Amino acid sequence: MNGDIASVIVNISVDALDRSFDYLIPESLKERVHPGTPVLIPFGRSDRKVTGYVVDIKSESKWDNLKEIISIQEGEVPVEGQLLSLAGWIKEHYGSTMNEAIRTVLPIRERVKSVEKHWLNFVISPEEAEKIAEAEESKHHVAKARLIRGLLQDKTLTTTVAHERYKATKAVVDSLVKVGVIAVSDELIERRPDELVSLETDTYKKIDLTDEQKKCVDTVLSDYDKGEKHTYLLYGVTGSGKTEVYMSVLKRIVDDGFQAVVLIPEIALTHQTVERFSRVFRDRVTVLHSRMSAGERYDQFVRAKNHEVDIVVGPRSALFVPFDRLGLIVIDEEHDGSYQSDKTPTYHAREVAIERAKRCGASVILGSATPSVQTYLAAKEGRYKLLRMTHRAKGALLPTVHVVDLREELKAKNRSIFSRLLKEKINERLTAGEQTMLFINRRGYAGFVSCRSCGYVLKCTHCDVSMTEHGRNKNPHLVCHYCGHTEPMPEKCPSCGSPYIASFGLGTEQVCEIIAKEFPGARVLRMDADTTKQKGGHERVLAPFRKEQADILVGTQMIVKGHDIPKVTLVGALAADMSMNLSDFRSHEQTFDLLMQAGGRAGRDELAGEFVIQTYQPDNYCIKAIESGESEYFYEQELSFRRISGYPPYKSMLKILISSENKDHVNELSKKLEAMIDEVGGDSLTRIGPAPDLLSFIRDRHRMSLFVKSDEPSDIDKVIMTIDERTDDDPLMRDCFISYHRSPR
Ligand code: ADP
Ligand code: ZN
Ligand code: ZN
Repeated sequence: MNGDIASVIVNISVDALDRSFDYLIPESLKERVHPGTPVLIPFGRSDRKVTGYVVDIKSESKWDNLKEIISIQEGEVPVEGQLLSLAGWIKEHYGSTMNEAIRTVLPIRERVKSVEKHWLNFVISPEEAEKIAEAEESKHHVAKARLIRGLLQDKTLTTTVAHERYKATKAVVDSLVKVGVIAVSDELIERRPDELVSLETDTYKKIDLTDEQKKCVDTVLSDYDKGEKHTYLLYGVTGSGKTEVYMSVLKRIVDDGFQAVVLIPEIALTHQTVERFSRVFRDRVTVLHSRMSAGERYDQFVRAKNHEVDIVVGPRSALFVPFDRLGLIVIDEEHDGSYQSDKTPTYHAREVAIERAKRCGASVILGSATPSVQTYLAAKEGRYKLLRMTHRAKGALLPTVHVVDLREELKAKNRSIFSRLLKEKINERLTAGEQTMLFINRRGYAGFVSCRSCGYVLKCTHCDVSMTEHGRNKNPHLVCHYCGHTEPMPEKCPSCGSPYIASFGLGTEQVCEIIAKEFPGARVLRMDADTTKQKGGHERVLAPFRKEQADILVGTQMIVKGHDIPKVTLVGALAADMSMNLSDFRSHEQTFDLLMQAGGRAGRDELAGEFVIQTYQPDNYCIKAIESGESEYFYEQELSFRRISGYPPYKSMLKILISSENKDHVNELSKKLEAMIDEVGGDSLTRIGPAPDLLSFIRDRHRMSLFVKSDEPSDIDKVIMTIDERTDDDPLMRDCFISYHRSPR
């Protein structure tokens, strides 16, 4: 970053964030002034010394006669300063404006007024009130009489309720106050998010940790006692009791007066999860998430800042809670896709957590049964410390896995979506009164094309990713969304010559209809985006299933995450391969993760579980690893694929998405970016594309994407910075939008 001028905000009482002031950076400080750096500056007419925070570095200012920064403020930085410096890192790493980055780390910008409730109470005895009510009635003052009788019944009322329930207007209330019948008192009520209300906090039973759990806890705590900070990978099979490990470590850290953040995937944020933490930490734990109202969030921020809570549980945005004694960040299910923000800045919570921890001397625990490939590699190379748990805490066995080759089913003239084995197993469950979960991989919906006879998938010859069918009715052809290569749609399978090639898709609704035919009398529930749209939608489907009011639950990936239902002893994956063919280098990783999680739902309690995987690719390493129970086999295979093909985590990779309603402008801008990248890119930089994005037309916008790969993460920073600088006043930017998606390393 070159520039001699710093934009400084003087006051972070947050309302003032948009007012920044320009200062010259003296030569001696140039190396040390970055976004987020706290600085001493002369301020106002009298040049009094105040502390400000640098939010941007630039080379020009619209003001003349700039004053100079006096010095860098040494010593302890208030938490907002830490968060601002984190915003500076986010801006440079993920590509966004400083304002967007600041809005991410300091999301609550205004004080949201606390709710004031006005309470009505009698100042006279009930007997007197009764007499007054009668008197008012005889005078036909119905409204007054109604309120008095209402208050007699309810004892106390808020003005709002009085109005709603007894139609008491302000005039009626005022007149009764004036004659000394009732009084109004103010009481400040803190807003509590739903999850925290009505917790039965006395139900916690202390459990004895298993040997594996104890070992993990001891490792972390002995490092902690030595003052060592690490990033840990807690790699434990489903049901191994990772949450208990987190809680044991948290207990110690909180007892020492430190604070902690526990991140969980958006979808897993349920009453149950929060309750589990609340049983141990009582009202020292709170939640933060985007479904809370601004007021609810503000109140919890204030509690966090005032040290009224020690632990915050929430999805990725909870990471930015203003804790100034942060000692630990836990990220449960660290591989989960919801940790990557889909809005600019498209930060990854795992990377930002590690960065935040580094800045304040905290440790990080990443937990998963199926760690991301990046994290696995980091643990393998010793950059993260590995904690391993291979047994389920309650002693239950991992489910038995059966792999069914769908090509064999077709040969045996079975055209049903259920293989003979799966059908038999479902019938066994129906007879035994046990439950079944059927999982459809909706991620496979993107329209890849495969052969129904041999399972061959049509792939791009340049990229080794599956091609996507386009123009089905008029002009069927295949497109590669990585490089833009197109091919006519073949008439026969290039591998076996079969004419049965088609893009493939199967919906939850369709499956339910087929079940009704093939398993008459079975009670079926469906869980997908449609049936869970409203607030609390998941619970509306899961609750009856948990109460055994249904035999079979059919669903998309949302049924595989974290639900603990004891009577489920069979899980079936109907078409396991679908997501393995997506045009994304992570498609195998996602498939592996989904199938592992799905299998993990079976037999979690006393009853043993079985997992049936239906696939066209029984020899694929994802499937083999799951069948044999050797996850390491998957990771080793996947890592060698990534290394050979030059994908993360071996290379840094950035996707640049260009969109506009004007197709010509998108094309023109794409060409400009292509030229810029080629100009700044060194030998280690590879550019792929531009090509139409996988989602090439969304909400009336045309989209092109470009990929940049490099061994050097700093090359990627440079690309982002160059594009930002050079497109700043480009007329095309009036209707085009550029966004960056950086693959986590
Ligand atoms: P994970 O997050 O690894 O899938 P959980 O922490 O949810 O596992 O634990 C799975 C189940 O095992 C939970 O019902 C939990 O209460 C129970 N559990 C965990 N640790 C123990 C233990 N040491 N003794 C008995 N039960 C345990
Ligand atoms: Zn290609
Ligand atoms: Zn074929």
